Amino acid sequence: MSTPTTYVYEFADGNREMTGLLGGKGAGLAEMTRLGLPVPPGFTVTTEACRIYLETGQEPPELGVEVARALAGLERAMGRDLGRPDDPLLVSVRSGARFSMPGMMETILDIGLNDASVAGLAKASGQERFAWDSYRRLLQMFGHTVMGVDGALFEQAIGAHKAALSVTDDHALDAAELAALVEEFQAIIRRETGEDFPQDPFEQLYRAVRAVFASWNSERARVYRHREHIPEDLGTAVNIQTMVFGNLGPDSGTGVAFTRDPATGERGMYGDYLPDAQGEDVVAGVRDAVPLAELKDLDPRAYAELGDHLRTLEAHYRDLCDVEFTVERGKLWILQTRVGKRTAEAAFRIAHDLQDEGTLTADESLGRVGGTELTRLMFPTFATRPADVPLAHGVPASPGAAVGVVVFDSEAAVRRAADGQHTVLVRRETTPDDLPGMIAAQAVLTSRGGKTSHAAVVARGMGKVCVCGTEALAIDPAARLFTTPAGVVVREGDTLSVDGTAGTVYPGALPLAPSEVGRCLETGEDTGPLTEAVLSALAHADSVRRLEVRANADTPEDAARARRLGAQGIGLCRTEHMFLGERRSLVEAMILARDDGAREQALAALLPLQREDFTGILKAMDGLPVTIRLLDPPLHEFLPDRTELAVRIARAPHPDAHDRDLLGAVERMHEENPMLGLRGVRLGLAVPGLVTMQVRAVAEAVVQRLREGGRPRAEIMIPLVGAVEELRLARAEAERVLAEVAEETGQNLDCPIGTMIELPRAALTAGRIAAAADFFSFGTNDLTQTTWGLSRDDAEASFFPLYLEKGVFATSPFETLDQEGVGRLVELAVEAGRAVNARLETGVCGEHGGDPESIHFFHRAGLDYVSCSPLRIPVARLEAGRAALTDVTTSDSR
Ligand code: PEP
Ligand code: MG
Repeated sequence: MSTPTTYVYEFADGNREMTGLLGGKGAGLAEMTRLGLPVPPGFTVTTEACRIYLETGQEPPELGVEVARALAGLERAMGRDLGRPDDPLLVSVRSGARFSMPGMMETILDIGLNDASVAGLAKASGQERFAWDSYRRLLQMFGHTVMGVDGALFEQAIGAHKAALSVTDDHALDAAELAALVEEFQAIIRRETGEDFPQDPFEQLYRAVRAVFASWNSERARVYRHREHIPEDLGTAVNIQTMVFGNLGPDSGTGVAFTRDPATGERGMYGDYLPDAQGEDVVAGVRDAVPLAELKDLDPRAYAELGDHLRTLEAHYRDLCDVEFTVERGKLWILQTRVGKRTAEAAFRIAHDLQDEGTLTADESLGRVGGTELTRLMFPTFATRPADVPLAHGVPASPGAAVGVVVFDSEAAVRRAADGQHTVLVRRETTPDDLPGMIAAQAVLTSRGGKTSHAAVVARGMGKVCVCGTEALAIDPAARLFTTPAGVVVREGDTLSVDGTAGTVYPGALPLAPSEVGRCLETGEDTGPLTEAVLSALAHADSVRRLEVRANADTPEDAARARRLGAQGIGLCRTEHMFLGERRSLVEAMILARDDGAREQALAALLPLQREDFTGILKAMDGLPVTIRLLDPPLHEFLPDRTELAVRIARAPHPDAHDRDLLGAVERMHEENPMLGLRGVRLGLAVPGLVTMQVRAVAEAVVQRLREGGRPRAEIMIPLVGAVEELRLARAEAERVLAEVAEETGQNLDCPIGTMIELPRAALTAGRIAAAADFFSFGTNDLTQTTWGLSRDDAEASFFPLYLEKGVFATSPFETLDQEGVGRLVELAVEAGRAVNARLETGVCGEHGGDPESIHFFHRAGLDYVSCSPLRIPVARLEAGRAALTDVTTSDSR
């Protein structure tokens, strides 16, 4: 064993903990070497050396000496020298970063071959064709990767030889043909670069190492890192390893093997084998591989040995492992291992089985699955891979798959739904007006907006498939058609298939596969190994989590569904949806009222309707808290569009007095920036009787439920408070009404009153506000908008993509909480609020309440609950459980 050096580690000197320095591959090779597995010997150049190279353009000065020393050790161990003319040692040079970046960086095989040693290899192996084939592979890889020759030139030369012989398979080229190709390749290199292919094996090695370093910054590697959120400054390690050959005849071969099936999680060895081939051939798909089980007949000893090694690795890593292996004339070599990638289904099954087998504890098993995987499993998918090219790509805003006929407005969706038709509602963007259509449709497709646009948020809340921001589509609602960039015209009534998980849209009807997991989460019925695994992970998450999980729901149906999915109450019942549809005329009457009497009449008409809404929801959530938020959006959202109304009036043969009044109100209420205008608690204070009516509806609903023998637990929430005085005023009115109803009915009404914290000022003065609040619910949608000073819909439609691309945002702050900014306000408010009011309950009801990463933050911040759309509840339960196992709550110790 050599002494460990700074930039070079022999395999025997590393271990699996050293992924930062040796990369995933290097650490795996080191660990296998320590376990005594048959790993071709070699050494690893560290990521640190790469970082220095990338920063300075030169490798560290010591590197040459260290590589030479490690190589000398390798040569001694193998009893052969690199490139020795009569029996050469050959090595591979492979990249290996800390995080796997498959195929993104370079690999060069057969380093050490040259015009002399190719003959030595032929003699030592007894196979002339193999030696020339190896040499041409080296020239091809080295010429392209290290010397920058266009790879197509080599391919063309091979193609010309095959064409001349009228063959299609590389195997049909014999030794003489390959030798001729070698000569041609050398000529190509000379012609293209003005220099000869280096005959000196050491020069080959050093230049290959440098090329691997440089490949860290290749275009494709950068794009991959950006997509996978891999930091740019890690650098790659380089593994230099003795070559072994799977292409020495029928008793040789190469393959990949998994300790379990990475697609389904099924127990048992699984993989592919390619006889008489090198690793690169498997990847390149040159020939079809056979199932690994066939190796059992081809070479029972190698197969049995491979099985032993896989069992050793899985027991050691306590997880699914995959290996690349080569059989060289009956001798098995393991070339690489790592904890294997797997599908969402396999992740759940493997975690569950490993726990079952006693390898993992329940806590560890929960650590192996996540909300993102669970989401993937919960929704229907298309049963087959679509053969068609998608008509369009957009933002995958609400997962699942749906098929329906295209409609361009809400009314058409409702009409067709009444006829039993499935529809896809296509809009440039949606507004609250589209709600009936969204409810009626199977999927929503928009050309504007991102994952937190109105369409996306509402669709997710309802569990509708949604693809947003398909900007390439030219939607013409008036002509009732849209046009794709390829010029395809899709008209109302045409059928579309929408994949909300992938963000794609296909023409025609693709076959749908329902989600077994989605069904089982609602029914609790386990129907097979996958659902059993999912239910068991959730049960454990429930047993360890501190965060409660509530739902954002505003209909009895949503409430009931949320409850089936495990909600422990409603954290946000928005009341604005209850002001739409047929009730809009009553809202209009309230807005247009010229005197108190008219307004009171309108409100009185709304009261029983609201009471009914609340009764139904309280019933569905009987015994659990239901946080009802008083009206939040500006009133003009309930009035018609200004331009449309003006046009209607101008076109009407006789002036319509109601329309004129309406236009007057619309104009009076017009706001340049409604998000920051007359809304939230401001509305409650400015419109006499509004708070009174809503609180009375809540109170009377509670009384009704009590009389029915229920256990209603309503809470009243005041939105958009910025100063404690606002809350005090609204609270005083709410308490007055509660007392009045209690008096009238003789029922004791215990109804907590709290506030949303969704303005920075509220967070900064939370200590004062907490004195008047029974609970805080963080409205992180508005809090994000107001902290950043941007309006979500406008920003998503304009500069968001640029900000994501330039790295200002790693992800949208509307999807994953901006912990540094918005999160800091949450922490401050929780701390200050609790200091004043020890019984203050805290939760979050913005979109972030259902986002895995944000949930971990809320756990750490010490909140009592998260609230999210019904269909995200299982994900929230799972992640809250995971957070309890891994994250420390900092703001207090509850
Ligand atoms: C919020 O602002 O986070 C919130 C839940 O309220 P809304 O999205 O209804 O404005
Ligand atoms: Mg809000």
